[in-house]
Amino acid sequence: MRELQKFTESYQRELNWHINDENYQQTKESLLHNYMLLTTEVAEVAEEFRKAFNMVYKEAENGMDPNAAFAEAKSLIKKDVGKELADCIAYICKFANFFEIDLEETFYEKMDEVKNRSNKNRKLPT
Ligand SMILES: [Mg+2]
Repeated sequence: MRELQKFTESYQRELNWHINDENYQQTKESLLHNYMLLTTEVAEVAEEFRKAFNMVYKEAENGMDPNAAFAEAKSLIKKDVGKELADCIAYICKFANFFEIDLEETFYEKMDEVKNRSNKNRKLPT
């Protein structure tokens, strides 16, 4: 993760795609613009899922087993899902770099926090 952050820092600076930090107004606009771009990339992941579900629907209509159809659809969208996830990571790294956040360290801390949450998987007594 640290390597990805380092890579995106220089890659985004080289292309002048980093968060503009000249002054408050520019920073605010740049953060909001990049946030919009991140949500667009997240939506593109959903678009790939939708593509796969539509393929399954079509194939199932033609009598194909939905599990087999999904296995085929999954392999067909795999590369594009990967590209969209990579786009998401690029924006996430951009925000982390701007805030000088060590994403790797923060990730593991957050996962520990989630694992130890007191309201996790609560069930009503039977
Ligand atoms: Mg994309």
